[in-house]
Amino acid sequence: MVFSEKLEHWYAEFGRSLPWRGISDPYRIWVSEIILQQTRIEQGWTYYERFVESLPTVEALAAASEEEVLALWQGLGYYSRARNMHTAARQIVEQCGGHFPDSYEGLLSLKGVGRYTAAAVASFAYRLPCPVIDGNVYRFISRLYGIATPIATDRAYSEFDALLRKLMGDCRPDVFNAALMDFGSLQCKVVPQCETCPFAVECVARREAKVGLLPVKVEKRPPTDRWFIYLDMRRHDSLLLHQRTEKDIWRGLWELPLLECEGECSPSEAETKAAAFAAEVLGLQGTRFRFAGSFVHKLTHRTIHATFVRAEIAKWPSKWLPNMKVATAEERGKMPVSRLIDRYLRGM
Ligand code: SF4
Repeated sequence: MVFSEKLEHWYAEFGRSLPWRGISDPYRIWVSEIILQQTRIEQGWTYYERFVESLPTVEALAAASEEEVLALWQGLGYYSRARNMHTAARQIVEQCGGHFPDSYEGLLSLKGVGRYTAAAVASFAYRLPCPVIDGNVYRFISRLYGIATPIATDRAYSEFDALLRKLMGDCRPDVFNAALMDFGSLQCKVVPQCETCPFAVECVARREAKVGLLPVKVEKRPPTDRWFIYLDMRRHDSLLLHQRTEKDIWRGLWELPLLECEGECSPSEAETKAAAFAAEVLGLQGTRFRFAGSFVHKLTHRTIHATFVRAEIAKWPSKWLPNMKVATAEERGKMPVSRLIDRYLRGM
C-alpha cells in the first residue's frame, strides 16, 4: 500500500469527528484554524461554537465591534489572532464584496493568515492540493523519512511541502490533510505509539532508534521577564480600569491601572510605589494601598510577575489616564480582560 492509502485507511478508523470537518464553508474553517493555533482542540471547540454562533458569517464579523470580538476571545490568549481576523473580515467585505478568497495566494494575502492556515482553508473549503504543515506534521514526516532539517525554517517548509505534494498524489486534499493532522497528533505523538503504527516497518526513525531525536528543532530564546504592579482602586462596587492601546501584549483589553518596574518588588515596595504613582499620576494624595496577591503568568515569549495592591478610595482621581474609566461590577463582566486580570478579579 502506498503512503496515502495507508494514511487514509488509518484515518477512516481513527480520525476525529470535529464540527469544522466535512464542511466547505471557508469562513467557519478559517475561524476554526485561527482558534486552534496555540490552543488545544478540547478548549478551542467551545470557543469555536460560541464564535460562529454569535458571528455566523464574515459579514457579521466585519460588522462587529472590536470589544465584541475580543470578549468572544477572552481566555484564549494571543489576542492579536482575534484582531487580525477582525481586520481580515473587513478586508474581505470591503475589497472582495464579502466573497472569501478562493486561491492559496488570495488567502495568504489576508491579515493574520500564514502558509498553514491558507493551506488548510484552500484544501478543506476548495479541495486545492495544498499540504498543511504544522508541528504535528513535521514530527510525523521527519520521523517516517528520517529528515533532520531543523523545522520551522523556510528550508524545511519547502522540503516538506514538496515531499507532501508528491505523497498527496491524486488523493482528495481535504481528506489527506485531515488524516495527516490527526496522525501527527494522535499516533505519532511526542511519545509515539509505534507498536500499533501502520508505518512501523518503513519508519526510518524507529529503525535507526532516532524517534526521540526527530524532529530537529531550532533552539528558542528563553522568555523575557516583566514586572507589573497593578493598582486595584475601588469605591463601593466600582473600580478603575484602563484599556491597553499600545503595540504590546493584550492590546485592546481592559486591566487595572499598571505600573511597570525594572525588577522584582517586595509587597511593601509595591505598596509604596503604588501610592507614589497614584499621587503623581492620578492626583490621589495619601492613598494607602495594601498588598492583595501576586501571580506569575507565563506567555510564550514573556513571563509576567504581577503584584496586585488594593485601596479603597474616597473620591475618583483628579487626573485621568487616557482610556481609563470607572466600571461597575456589571459593566466589568462585559469588558474583555486578559486571563491574568480575570484570575485576579475572580479571586483565584
Ligand atoms: S513508527 Fe512510531 S515514530 Fe514512526 S511514524 Fe509510526 S508512530 Fe511515528
